[in-house]
Amino acid sequence: MRLILLGAPGVGKGTQAKKIASEFNIPHVSTGDILRTEISNGSMLGKKAEEFVSSGKLVPDEIILGMIKEEFKTDRFKDGFLMDGFPRTLEQAVKFSELLEELNINLDKVINIVVDEKEIIKRIINRIICSGCKKVFKLSDFENDDLICNVCGSKLTKRKDDSEEVIKNRLEVYKLQTEPLVDFYMGKGLIENIDGLGTENEIFERILARL
Ligand code: ADP
Repeated sequence: MRLILLGAPGVGKGTQAKKIASEFNIPHVSTGDILRTEISNGSMLGKKAEEFVSSGKLVPDEIILGMIKEEFKTDRFKDGFLMDGFPRTLEQAVKFSELLEELNINLDKVINIVVDEKEIIKRIINRIICSGCKKVFKLSDFENDDLICNVCGSKLTKRKDDSEEVIKNRLEVYKLQTEPLVDFYMGKGLIENIDGLGTENEIFERILARL
């Protein structure tokens, strides 16, 4: 299964991506997770990306495309993949199509999760993330300050770019730069629109029904 997951920040892409990747036993590639790891390791790539990520801007296409091309040099993806957070601009989508063509790989589907903006802002403000396994939790589910992951025991933290100011920026960037990809993949007959309101499992079932 070769999939792309599209959708604005906060629609639940990361959560669904983990479920889909485990269901089909395919690698989950999250460019956001890769960038955050590089930033916390203080690598060259991390240093270049940090100012963009923390202000909610997109990291330049050439950096992201370089990262993806590196990943595709291995044969990790020969039996399938799930891209989460990539491509995010038309330039990335066009270059990714070219790369896949060179490798003789066809995409199966592009899943577009749709949630309205008010709900997105509410969700992002309420979201905390495990610094270890990256599982996402709701701040409102915790009564005290004991923010510890029930899966791996690591500390739960707020993403730096999950502040209200930066979220507005990210949604703006999404509308201008990423939303046009829905039409791009619609033209290729690959889009499946999924209603992103409901429980994690309800949404997962909706996605499975389309695959
Ligand atoms: P979200 O979908 O919630 O915005 P991500 O974890 O996918 O979060 O991305 C976080 C940040 O990482 C983005 O705001 C952007 O700065 C950077 N980023 C991730 N993927 C890409 C990409 N494909 N192109 C450019 N920047 C990216």
